Amino acid sequence: MKPSEKEEEFFARMEFEKKKKIEEEKHKRLAEEEKKRLKQLHYMHCPKCGMELIEIDYKGIKIDECSECEGIWLDAGELETVAKLEKTGLDKFFSIFKK
Ligand SMILES: [Zn+2]
Repeated sequence: MKPSEKEEEFFARMEFEKKKKIEEEKHKRLAEEEKKRLKQLHYMHCPKCGMELIEIDYKGIKIDECSECEGIWLDAGELETVAKLEKTGLDKFFSIFKK
């Protein structure tokens, strides 16, 4: 290989790396925008039926109940908190949702 060919190869590789980086950045940005869009679309909506969730605060636990299918959704770590409630607390917890 002539020295100039090696140089060309080097610059082509540099060019490729640069463009790859730009593409990767674009993908990252798109993923962020898509995440934001999905969050706006789904925030406080039932994961099963897509209807609005009603948020209830019980002893610092934020419980979301679906206004349509009556599914109950908990945020991260809240199931553990609910599981630690004693029997009467648990009964009160469920009576909130009884009709
Ligand atoms: Zn629902």
